[in-house]
Amino acid sequence: MAIMDEISEVLLTADDIAKRVKELGEEITRDYEGRDLVVIGILKGAIPFMADLIREIKVPLEYDLIAVSSYGASTRSSGIVQIRKDLDTSIEEKHVLIVEDVVDTGLTLKYLCENLRSRHPASLRVCTLLDKPSRREVEIVPEYNGFVIPDRFVVGYGLDYAGRYRQFPFVGVLKPEVYQK
Ligand code: 5GP
Repeated sequence: MAIMDEISEVLLTADDIAKRVKELGEEITRDYEGRDLVVIGILKGAIPFMADLIREIKVPLEYDLIAVSSYGASTRSSGIVQIRKDLDTSIEEKHVLIVEDVVDTGLTLKYLCENLRSRHPASLRVCTLLDKPSRREVEIVPEYNGFVIPDRFVVGYGLDYAGRYRQFPFVGVLKPEVYQK
């Protein structure tokens, strides 16, 4: 079966995403005018979003990547967060923008923000493509938010299930039988 046939519903089309990413880029450009920015993408899910977003940001920037442990092959958060690959560069006195694919329980970002804050950046903000506020277990309010979505497990545009489906240009929901395999 082709992987496209494993999708039951498209929540956000490639056009919806492109339009919103452009708006976010404009907002970030306005807010950081006159300042240099360090954009930090969280591996692996944020890669397509970060790649598109940075091309809509018009202030000087550098980007770096960080990897934290996440769900593995399951669809539930373990609550245990670990840095698997750290930044290559110092963020001390820098204006930092974390780019994430989705904020769900908020546990990953809470841990990461605390960790990065201890490195004394000049400022620290979060930009997420998707937000599921109904699932929140700890208080995290991203300063930039692409779309608020309901409590559904989504794939595509960087988001995976068991490592797959990240290459879709849209965000969608898998057919239930995919999880039962
Ligand atoms: P949190 O720590 O906020 O619960 O979860 C953040 C991470 O969980 C995300 O970076 C992502 O890896 C994973 N996650 C949460 N919700 C979803 C979802 O709907 N689909 C996918 N593929 N991953 C999700």
